[in-house]
Amino acid sequence: QKLSGDEIRRKFLEFYRKRGHQIVTSASLIPEDPTVLLTIAGMLTFKPIFLGQRIPEFPRAASSQKCIRTNDIENVGRTKRHHTFFEMLGNFSFGDYFKEQAISWGWEVSTELFGLPKERLIISVFDLDEETYAIWRDKIGVPEKRIKRMGINDNFWNSGVTGPCGPCSEIYYDFHPELGDDIDLEDDSRFIEFYNLVFMESNRDANGNLTPLASKNIDTGMGLERMAQILQQVPNNYETDLILPIIKKVGDIARADYSKSDEKTKISLKIISDHMRAIVHMIADHIYASNVGRGYVLRRLIRRVVRHGRLIGIDEEFTTKLAENVIILGESAYPHLRERESAIKTELQQEESCFLKTLARGEKILAGVINKLKHQDKTIISGDEIFKLYDTYGFPKELTQEIAEEEGLTIDSDGFTIEMQKQIKRAQSSHKTIDLTVKHPLDNKSSDHIHSTEFLGYTQTVTSVRV
Ligand code: ATP
Ligand code: MG
Ligand code: MG
Ligand code: MG
Repeated sequence: QKLSGDEIRRKFLEFYRKRGHQIVTSASLIPEDPTVLLTIAGMLTFKPIFLGQRIPEFPRAASSQKCIRTNDIENVGRTKRHHTFFEMLGNFSFGDYFKEQAISWGWEVSTELFGLPKERLIISVFDLDEETYAIWRDKIGVPEKRIKRMGINDNFWNSGVTGPCGPCSEIYYDFHPELGDDIDLEDDSRFIEFYNLVFMESNRDANGNLTPLASKNIDTGMGLERMAQILQQVPNNYETDLILPIIKKVGDIARADYSKSDEKTKISLKIISDHMRAIVHMIADHIYASNVGRGYVLRRLIRRVVRHGRLIGIDEEFTTKLAENVIILGESAYPHLRERESAIKTELQQEESCFLKTLARGEKILAGVINKLKHQDKTIISGDEIFKLYDTYGFPKELTQEIAEEEGLTIDSDGFTIEMQKQIKRAQSSHKTIDLTVKHPLDNKSSDHIHSTEFLGYTQTVTSVRV
């Protein structure tokens, strides 16, 4: 009897609720914190408390927080464990319980609540944090060979240059214990990090000195999709019940059977499914496609979905059909998805059809460019041409490359980069852009329809966002 994603979420929250934690519903993907574009972790909601700017209403909390990490976009579909959109389960202590309690509950959740075999768990600790090492070894009884010391880059958390900080300790699952005691946690074909415990115990001052915090905090994060992968015994996060139904739906539309597909098709199916989850949740949280900030992240995700759809042979509009699947899968945990159904579908329809027109126009222009080159017996599409297609017509460079390859041509990527850099310089000197299209969740819902649909080019934004 394998646990579903919904059951894992429910059991985790129930465990901590019974231990005095206030259950806090997921915050919006639009963070209150102005220093980040999107909600990237469960702790963000509580950051003002950790920074001492807000007094907590309760000493302990637990949540299942929807997150988006664009820094993982290149990993999507390629690693077994990374998404742009995922849910982070977390338990938090605000000056209340600390290390020993957090570790013993983390262990109990892993080994008893979710029943993971103890001998399959590996622990990482910060190498100077002897206290944590000793708790794992002496109180929990983890053998030394399965406690790994890691450096400051991996296992020390900072909120900024100054402020609260502290070591962390992670729990990894071993898929192949038969491979023995030679443990390299970087080997992701064997190990997966699923639970991170942060011990916020120091304050760093402007001179870099650490002093103990009067009020020590706990911040943790467990990837729901990762725990589902482990418990459902599937080869990657994508094949869990949280995502596989979307993959199947995409497969139906593309007439491709996921399990029988080649690696490239599988990657496209995974990317489309991952991005659709992100897209639907973003629009549900009142983010609309635009050329800056969050809106630009959304636009790029939608365009990647359409592009990968074409790569696997989908030439019709399909994103609203997938949105329906995402809503069905998510609505029991996130009822507002259904309330936002029409806004989600309208936005998708507009963006998709607009981008399809862009693509059709770009393909026509590119065909002309290729024809001319062939007549001149040339084989390289210049950086200038690629840039013009990209900048003026919104036609992605990768697509130019792909079509060029089909025609037996190559593209001048370096030339394109040079043109891009010139453009960035021009944009920096002449623009200051403000995102007016991204609305706050508190905004009046009746104004949902007002948003930019006009394509203005990518240019102003490449400097400010990386997706
Ligand atoms: P990794 O090293 O695997 O990239 P991380 O150390 O960046 O993970 P944390 O910042 O510690 O992750 O986040 C806490 C937990 O959230 C992780 O232990 C993992 O379970 C989950 N998580 C982090 N990033 C992702 C992602 N891109 N997709 C799915 N789950 C994630
Ligand atoms: Mg990471
Ligand atoms: Mg990590
Ligand atoms: Mg981590």
